[in-house]
Formats: sequence, C-alpha cells, structure tokens
Amino acid sequence: MNTLHLTTEIKDIAKAANIIREGGLVAFPTETVYGLGADAMNAEAVAAVYEAKGRPSDNPMIVHIARASDIGQLTPMLSSDIVAIIENFWPGPLTIVVKKKPEVPDRTTGGLDTVAVRMPDSKPALDLINLSGTPIAAPSANLSGSPSPTRAKDVIADLDGRIDAVISGDDCRVGIESTVLDLTSEVPTILRPGIITAESIEAALGKEVIYDPSLKEAARHVALDPAGGVQESDFQPKSPGMKYKHYAPKADMLVVEGQRDKVKAEIERLKGLNEKLGNRVGVILFEEKAFIEAAHDFFARLRDLDHEEVDLILAGALSDTDGVGFAVMNRMLKSAGYNIVRVS
Ligand code: AMP
Ligand code: MG
Repeated sequence: MNTLHLTTEIKDIAKAANIIREGGLVAFPTETVYGLGADAMNAEAVAAVYEAKGRPSDNPMIVHIARASDIGQLTPMLSSDIVAIIENFWPGPLTIVVKKKPEVPDRTTGGLDTVAVRMPDSKPALDLINLSGTPIAAPSANLSGSPSPTRAKDVIADLDGRIDAVISGDDCRVGIESTVLDLTSEVPTILRPGIITAESIEAALGKEVIYDPSLKEAARHVALDPAGGVQESDFQPKSPGMKYKHYAPKADMLVVEGQRDKVKAEIERLKGLNEKLGNRVGVILFEEKAFIEAAHDFFARLRDLDHEEVDLILAGALSDTDGVGFAVMNRMLKSAGYNIVRVS
C-alpha cells in the first residue's frame, strides 16, 4: 500500500478526513503520542487498525471526540463524575471508561460493554475529527509491542506502507499515553497512569480515586524480588491492554533502582563491564524529579537507541510512587520486561 504523506494544513487534513469517512486508516498527532485513527463506528475500519498494528483484538481502543457533547453518541447517560471530568480536564490527556451505547461496535471496545473516550488537546487531531464527522478510534500509531511514537518519523518507521495516510505534525507535547480512568466501578479507578494524576482527579471529583491494584502490584513485586523476573501473567488487570508485551526496544533493557548516587555508579559499572565484552550500551538517566521531561523523552530515547543499534539499554528508575514519575515507571518497567536490579 502506498501511504499518503500529509501535513497539518487544513487542505491536507480534509484529505485525511475523506479517508477516515471511507473506512481508511490515518495516523495523526495528538498531545500524548501519535494515534492511528479509523472511524470508531465502522467495525471493518476498526478491524483494519488491529491488522495494521498487529494488535490483539481483545485490546479495546480509545474513541476520540472533538466536542465534549459528542460523548452523547457513545454513552447513554452523563453522571456528575463524567461532567466534572469533562469540565476540569477536557480537552486533555485523560480518558474515561463509561458504559457504551449499542451503536458503538464491539470491535471498537474489544467486546466490552464499556467504551473509553477522550477529547484530545491538539489542533490537527480536533480538525481531523471535526472534518471526518465521526468519532475516531485510535490506539498509538506503532506496531504492537514497540515503543509508542512521539514523533512523525517514529510512525513512518513502523507503519509506512501499512496504512492509508500519515499526518506529520510537531513532536508530541506530553510523550506518554493518556491517563485511563474507569468511571464504571464503585470507586473511580485509574487503569493506566499518565500525567494527570490520582491526586488532581480527586481534587476535581471531590472523592477518593484509586489506582488499579495490578499497577501497584507490578511495582511491589519488583521491589520484593530483587532478581526481577516478574511475569505479567501474574496480574489480572482490568484494562485488557495492560497484559500484553509493551513498549519493548530491540535491545535488552535493565532498570537500575535505588538511591540516586548508587544508581549512577551501578549504571557506570555495568556499562563499562558490558562494553569490555564488546556490547554497545545506551543509558537513560533522567534528572532527579524531572518527571515531565522524562515523560516527554522516554519513548523517543528508546527509539533513538534502537536506531543506534545498541545491544543493551541501562535505565535509572524514577523514584515516585503515584505522580507523573510513577506513570513513566509503568512504561519503563514494561519496556524492560520487568528486568530490574536494586542497589542499596
Ligand atoms: P492505546 O490504544 O494503545 O492507547 O491503549 C488504550 C488503553 O485503554 C489500553 O490499555 C486499553 O486496554 C484501555 N481501554 C480501552 N477501552 C477500555 C475499556 N472499555 N475498559 C478498560 N480499558 C480500556
Ligand atoms: Mg499503544
């Protein structure tokens, strides 16, 4: 397939919108990561997204809308929590899981009776959805399993020739995917951490918000088992996407956790030893507490190191238990396949 390369100019977005209306696939920039979009109400178009990404079909997609009121096409009823989320966080990197209307194809929701919805804060994304005249289902625009794409070149590296069009825009401002908040359970529950944290959602809703226990489990198991080796199958996550191999670079990857100076020293030591063996080693070590920058750079760093063809990536863990650093750690541990050592 010949992939059409488009800009964010409105005449190009109009071409892309035509493709969406006809059931085709278009990659586009959002503020979080690039998305691979299809008409969310067209089951065949959505099936083609799974195909292009090589994504397991029980992993549901986030449906993107351009006006908050369009959520009415997807869910039967607005609760006060839904309204508070819309007023406080949309447009922005927060997805809510709500009860779905029968019109939303099962393909889009992986057979669940709920649907994940978000209004992105990105002009090209909003223009595309508006001109398409339909909600757009869009997972990240990468091959399933590889690091999420935060730059147009990352999308092209993975999907050129597999989809109808790519809209190349700016690098993504946030750099990690949206926070996913389940509003269908008794207590609002974060299924995927992002830059919008439990604390700020609690402030907006005026009630307790929890993290899905499997998110904390992953971190806890790792902490208890210094040898690492945690199996993702040990967890029973509610969000189907959390059980698959995710974000993996081509290189082997090891996360080093502990007190900052010791982490730095251990990374230097392991780097030296591995280089002596003839391995090319890449290091990812963010400034302490620079969690927003870490979110912005993490996936791009993984892709750049793969491009440099390193054999091993050594990454310093971020010490944060529930904020933005926790969201980055969620991705870092997955990309390393939970391969972690503690230094103390
Ligand atoms: P991605 O499309 O790659 O950004 O991933 C979307 C994430 O949202 C995945 O982890 C999905 O499993 C999750 N998700 C989407 N829809 C639902 C839903 N209805 N219930 C629970 N999780 C969902
Ligand atoms: Mg993804």
